[in-house]
Amino acid sequence: MQIGFIGLGNMGGPMAANLARAGHEVTGFDMAAVEIEGVAMAASAAEAAGGADVVVTMLPNGDILRSVAAEIIPAMTTGASFVDCSTVDVESARAVAAMAQDAGLKALDAPVSGGVGGATAGTLTFMVGGSEAAYEIARPLFGIMGQKSVFCGDPGAGQAAKICNNMILGVTMVATCEAFALADKLGLSRQAVYDVVSTSSGSSWSMNSYCPAPGVGPKSPADNGYMPGFAAELMLKDLRLSQQAAEAAEADTPMGRLAEELYTTFVEHEGGNGRDFSAMLPRLADRTRS
Ligand code: NAD
Repeated sequence: MQIGFIGLGNMGGPMAANLARAGHEVTGFDMAAVEIEGVAMAASAAEAAGGADVVVTMLPNGDILRSVAAEIIPAMTTGASFVDCSTVDVESARAVAAMAQDAGLKALDAPVSGGVGGATAGTLTFMVGGSEAAYEIARPLFGIMGQKSVFCGDPGAGQAAKICNNMILGVTMVATCEAFALADKLGLSRQAVYDVVSTSSGSSWSMNSYCPAPGVGPKSPADNGYMPGFAAELMLKDLRLSQQAAEAAEADTPMGRLAEELYTTFVEHEGGNGRDFSAMLPRLADRTRS
């Protein structure tokens, strides 16, 4: 396939490289001067999108997605597919899908889980919303960039699934870190907490696969000085998107809101920016009840 790829950063760069390595003809564009193995660089987003069967975008936020969409949609061939893999607000995803459909294009929102490691290894999970016809076209590409894709429903459903998942992740990470911090103060070893909880009803991905306590459980960013991994500011972005969506849909999400508040304080006032989101553990362990 001829693929246009716009947004070649930490995630988009390796995703585009994997598509090129699999034999697709990839033309890329990024605001920054980047070089990606196997990817021909265009002078503008519209140039990268023109003539492509599928255009993939991997951009920082909904406003940037909307402005890039306004530029590339008129340049795209009728019937081509617009696949946005960025994490953005549900409303932007729906607006861009509507804009694309009005122009005779097929559209998908397909945010990912798996981080830079998953993008590089081609093991991302895609959560997909939009038309099923577009999903069938893009599916083989998801199979190259990732190992799993789930069709979730109408436009915006991929973003909705992503923020629901990450709201659970943020809340369970805070809860897991709180439990370790409480156990410390009760004189219970972290190894004992892990051994019990990871095989009991308190188990979760945060405890079992990404344990926030250094030296306990499988290797995780905690064992690497809390270098990300999944940076606290990216978790904050996703929690904010979840609360923006909850507000728009009038959903009551008290734990999600509290997690958003905690990560805001951590990232903006307590040096959490640039640290892994599991560094919530030293943050809580160092504090006393207030
Ligand atoms: P990044 O900042 O490394 O990459 C974004 C790229 O977009 C940059 O290279 C930037 O120059 C480019 N860009 C910005 N405006 C542009 C424009 N108008 N035209 C063309 N290019 C433009 O970010 P990233 O980590 O690659 O994340 C991309 C998206 O993936 C975000 O929505 C993020 O939330 C999501 N995501 C990231 C991770 C992660 O672990 N990094 C995991 C899952 C999802």
